[in-house]
Amino acid sequence: MGLELALKPYRRRFVQPLHTAHGPWVWREGLLIRLRDGLGRWGYGEVAPIPWFGSETMAEALAFCRAQGGEWHGQKVPAALPATQFGLESALADLTGQSAGHEPAIPADSFANAAICGLLPAGAAVLEIAPQRLAQGHRTLKWKIGVHPIADEIAWLEQWVKTLPSEARLRLDANGGLSLAQAEHWLAACDRLNANLHLATVEYLEQPLPPDQLTAMIALGHRYQTAIALDESVATVAQLENCWQQGWRGVCVVKPAIAGSPQRLEAFCQQHQPHLVFSSVFETGVGRRAALAIAARCSPAPAPALGFGTQGWLDDDWDTLTPAELWDRL
Ligand SMILES: [Mg+2]
Repeated sequence: MGLELALKPYRRRFVQPLHTAHGPWVWREGLLIRLRDGLGRWGYGEVAPIPWFGSETMAEALAFCRAQGGEWHGQKVPAALPATQFGLESALADLTGQSAGHEPAIPADSFANAAICGLLPAGAAVLEIAPQRLAQGHRTLKWKIGVHPIADEIAWLEQWVKTLPSEARLRLDANGGLSLAQAEHWLAACDRLNANLHLATVEYLEQPLPPDQLTAMIALGHRYQTAIALDESVATVAQLENCWQQGWRGVCVVKPAIAGSPQRLEAFCQQHQPHLVFSSVFETGVGRRAALAIAARCSPAPAPALGFGTQGWLDDDWDTLTPAELWDRL
């Protein structure tokens, strides 16, 4: 006998539209899943796709889930639906783990923030917002680059690091938007800053070049001291495995909610022990809980700050709800 499969689509508005390479992101759409077995045990999961990051669309996820006719027999979810794989597999893990959504979804205090990377807006606003993130307890900060002229951005970075405590760590995320010459320019600037031990550290430059330029990024990794992290290149476990096969041994940012099967991800981690940094896709507490559980099992030691600094970015109080409360709310 299968499990009862119930679905609740959701839509949440960002407080301010998010600036992405594909235009403004105004609404976060996704799907909560609830599985129930014959004993009345529940398990919650979440499908939170980002189609422009290589996952299925919301419509594709919904069509697949609805086609199951309200029952789940553990059948294979197609590889083209990685966010759906994550949602169904984590709902099943939740059910069998009997952690049916009663604990608070997200601890949000300055102690927890020390382990979480704080997000910063692009541009000169970083100088204004970074002190707020530090005051909230964040010690690792992420700044989007490749948005303004490179000379301006590097000048802001140089000005900014002088205001930071030396233990602060910075992640500069280019979203694959730099040319090779610009990437070299950035890495040289980061190496200069990192040579000064009294200043904050640039932990890595994230996805300097587009995903199809892996060989060039491997070469850059050998030429500069500052680490490079892949993000867009490793959106799914299959892509992560592929980059590994092609020789990448640097940092990889993994977003479990769109990466595909959690079991396959964990098997890859156990086999190769890659240097992974785990990150959110603005999922609700349901997906976040499952993603953080994977992060806890697969992060290298000492664990790098988690890319889950998404609290307060959506215009609702869902982050304060347990999965069961959120389910009832929808
Ligand atoms: Mg990124």
